[in-house]
Amino acid sequence: MSDQFVTIHFSKRLNAFLKNSRKGKRFRFFFHGGPTLGDLVESLGVPHTEVGRVRVNQKKATLKRHLKSGDAIDIDPNQAIPGRTPKFILDVHLGKLARYLRIFGFDTLYKNDWTDRQIVELAVKLNRFVLTRDVGILKHKRIRKGYWVRQTDPEKQIRELMERLSLYGKTNPFRICLACNGRLRRVPKEKVADRLPLKTRQYFDRFYRCKGCHKIYWPGSHYERMKAFVEANSRSS
Ligand SMILES: [Zn+2]
Repeated sequence: MSDQFVTIHFSKRLNAFLKNSRKGKRFRFFFHGGPTLGDLVESLGVPHTEVGRVRVNQKKATLKRHLKSGDAIDIDPNQAIPGRTPKFILDVHLGKLARYLRIFGFDTLYKNDWTDRQIVELAVKLNRFVLTRDVGILKHKRIRKGYWVRQTDPEKQIRELMERLSLYGKTNPFRICLACNGRLRRVPKEKVADRLPLKTRQYFDRFYRCKGCHKIYWPGSHYERMKAFVEANSRSS
């Protein structure tokens, strides 16, 4: 048994990843060999993408630092900010959240049959911010930007993201196709009239078509409900 140890304390915002006995406490961790701080943090259950400021003995450090016996480590959460125009990729558990994000105008890649490996590869290749319920994806070394979604209910999830990822003021609703993430463009009624249900043709004049899958959208009763939902969730309360 090794007698080398560090002490470590995680900010309470990271509690969701920790065993109960380690929440809110400074605890000892014994080690041997030459693990890095990143190895330690992930072995305790916290993905590196969730880690913000790191201090060792009160001094700023990085996850690449190798542990030294006696180190006192403090870990703060990442203020995960996905940039001015966030582009997301979601794991297979988040289909409803994907629709909400598209309604709010966020560019969101999602497919219900992607493997973790495909998600990691696309996220790296396309420089996308990963949203997941699967902590394992965020532990992947190549993933730079991501967030583990705490809530399970899709409406609560969208509120959580607006708040935690500072998305207020970045919404641009009803610009993205809910089915395929393509861009919507205004289209003259006469161009799509033959594809509309009779009642829709009678009562609506404003139409949008997806550039990707050509699905047609118009502001019907569903639209009014969604608009109220977006408005209610587009600013902090
Ligand atoms: Zn589409």
